Amino acid sequence: MELNFQTIDLELALPWATSRTAQPGGIRTSKVVHVCLSDENGVEGFGEAAPIRRYDETAESVAHFLRSFPVQDLSLNSIADSVALIAGTGSGQMAARCALESALLDLAGKRSRRPVWELLQIERPEPKPVSYTIGIGSVDHVREQVRRAANFRILKLKLGGPDDRAALQALRSLASDKIVRVDANEGWSGREQALRMIEWLAEDPRIEFVEQPLSAKLPDDDHRWLFERSPLPLMADESCHRTADVSRLAGSFHGVNVKLMKTGGLTEGVQCLQTARRLGLKTMLGCMIESTLGIAAAFQLAGLADYLDLDSHVLLARDPFAGLELNGGILSLSGEELRPGLGVPPKRGQVKPSSRR
Ligand SMILES: [Mg+2]
Repeated sequence: MELNFQTIDLELALPWATSRTAQPGGIRTSKVVHVCLSDENGVEGFGEAAPIRRYDETAESVAHFLRSFPVQDLSLNSIADSVALIAGTGSGQMAARCALESALLDLAGKRSRRPVWELLQIERPEPKPVSYTIGIGSVDHVREQVRRAANFRILKLKLGGPDDRAALQALRSLASDKIVRVDANEGWSGREQALRMIEWLAEDPRIEFVEQPLSAKLPDDDHRWLFERSPLPLMADESCHRTADVSRLAGSFHGVNVKLMKTGGLTEGVQCLQTARRLGLKTMLGCMIESTLGIAAAFQLAGLADYLDLDSHVLLARDPFAGLELNGGILSLSGEELRPGLGVPPKRGQVKPSSRR
């Protein structure tokens, strides 16, 4: 097998900010690394890494991981062993692992003419509504984003910014009755402030849940305190990375947001979702700023998720991959037929992660 990869700047259609974005006015581009594994017959499998700076990941650290990975030890004859090798080599760098495992499963699926969800022995992903995410910004910027989301039934509003009340008001001025999911991205400063904010949000009957109100660095006691008092369901994102976290969080959150860039790939993502369901937790699949390639990997697991927050490809000015459809805010794979692998090819004339290792 041959491994190639390439760093790509994904350009956003509008500036993008959350409570943790350092750049004033938000970011305009976001780096991902596209990985390609090819077999002796030239069949290619693709995967995407969207490195998370908060966890010391950058395009450079992804490249370093890939360059030093023992690709000669990967085998398509034993997918389980190869997945274990990807999970067990080195430390950290979950986005890089995710890209490599995605490419391996895409390639294995294409060779055996089976979709990845079938290789993983999970439910077929059926078309399902996704939320459209409204980033932090001025009232005018919030309104502009809400206008772009006209076809979506569900909005996800980023809070924890300078004026949360003005942001919700701006959203409601254009979308008075849409379901809204709130994500504070750890932006509220302590449990008392978070409770006040959630009680205020609960006055709006169309708010469905609140994601990560408090810093993941706070003791479990703080999350539990809020969980016991919150009038709205609480979802863990920054507090939940892998299966061990899911088990710890029952009793502090009502559900978990599983992202492949945190789990390090699809196999661990399945574990997280299945563990959460066994524990009676709600399940959500989320994303970083990813193209259709990353979103398609997560969508393979959609049969295990109650909520889909898989919309970052829609926020891009240009998407290097194709093959997902969004009709009326419902996400599906294009076409009726079962598509082998991840089901999304690079667009013609677009990326072919062809740069050398
Ligand atoms: Mg989140």
